[in-house]
Amino acid sequence: MLAAKITGKETVKVVETPIPVPGKGEVLIRMRASALCRSDLYRYHGEALFDESDGAVITPGHEPCGVVEQLGEGVDKVKVGDRVALFLGLGCGVCEHCLAGDVILCPKFNCIGFQVDGAHADFMVIPQENCLPLPDSMSFVTGALSTDVGGTLYTTCKRLAVNGSMTVVVFGVGPMGCGGVLMAKAFGAQVIAVDVDEKRLALARELGADQVINAKDASAVAQIQAWTHGKGADACIVCAGGNTLNDALDCVKKYGEVAVIAESSSCTIRPSEQFIRKLVSLRGCWYFNRADWQEIADFIVSRNIALEKISTHTFGLRDADQAFSLFDRHLTQKVVFVWE
Ligand SMILES: [Zn+2]
Ligand SMILES: [Zn+2]
Repeated sequence: MLAAKITGKETVKVVETPIPVPGKGEVLIRMRASALCRSDLYRYHGEALFDESDGAVITPGHEPCGVVEQLGEGVDKVKVGDRVALFLGLGCGVCEHCLAGDVILCPKFNCIGFQVDGAHADFMVIPQENCLPLPDSMSFVTGALSTDVGGTLYTTCKRLAVNGSMTVVVFGVGPMGCGGVLMAKAFGAQVIAVDVDEKRLALARELGADQVINAKDASAVAQIQAWTHGKGADACIVCAGGNTLNDALDCVKKYGEVAVIAESSSCTIRPSEQFIRKLVSLRGCWYFNRADWQEIADFIVSRNIALEKISTHTFGLRDADQAFSLFDRHLTQKVVFVWE
C-alpha cells in the first residue's frame, strides 16, 4: 500500500509500505477520505505538536473516513464493510477522562497521525472503539470534515449555548473558522466573520455569515461594536492565533464568552479590563467527547450542514507533496485526500 510520510523539513514522500495487520480489538480501515490539518504542519516544519519523541517516521493524518476492511481478534462492535469516521484519540481506557469519553484529556493520550501511523495512507489500523458510524447519507469527505472541524465547532457552539438571539463573532475563517460559521448559523445565531483574507471572507459569506469584516482595512472591534449597537458580541470563537484573542476579549459583551480553538504559544492580555470588569468567561475548546458523535452526525445530516464546501481542494495520495505545499502556503481551505 501507499503511505505519505514527512521525511524531512517540508518534504513529503509517498512510499510503498506493508498493509498493517489489525491486532486484538483492532480493525483495518480502507481509507476513503483523509483531511489535512494545520496541526500536520508542525511536523512538516520540523516542530513537534505533541510529544513525538521516538523519532520514527509516522504517517500523518488524523481526520479520516473509510470502510472497515478486516477485523482483528475479538472485534465485535463493527463489521467488515461498515462506513466509519475515525476518532483521533487513543487513551488508557480506564482513567476518569477515558471513562467519561474525554479521551483527549487522558494522561496517556496519544493521537493517530502523531504517535502512531495515521490516515494519509491506503490503509490504517485502529481500535474498534475509535470507529464512529457514518450516516448512510453522509459522504466520506463530509465524514472526514465532521470530526476535527464539525465535531470541535459543534461542541464549541453547544458549550457557548449559541442560539437565535445571539451575535457570534468568528475570528479567522480558515477551515476551523468556516466550520464555526456553519455551526453557529445552524444553531440560529447572527454570525460575523473576521479575517484579513478577502477570499476566505467570501467563502464565509457563502457559508452564511451575515457580516464579514476585513481586519486589515479597519478595526474589527469598532465595527463589531457598531454592528451590536455598542453592546458587544454575545460570544466569540477564536480560530486565528497571535493577537486575535485580544480583539475577541475587547469586543465581547459584559458576561460574554470567548472560546479559543486556534493553537497559539503565547499572547499578552489585559485581565482587569478585558475579563474581570466585564465578567467574561474564557474557555478552551478542543475536539469532542466520543459519546457525542451520534448527536454531531445527526445534527450535520438533519441541518444539511455544507461542511464539504470547506474542502476547496481534493488530491489523490500520490500528490501528497503538492497537497501539503499548497495547504502550507494558505492557497487552499481544507485539503482532503480522496480514494475512488
Ligand atoms: Zn486536525
Ligand atoms: Zn485514560
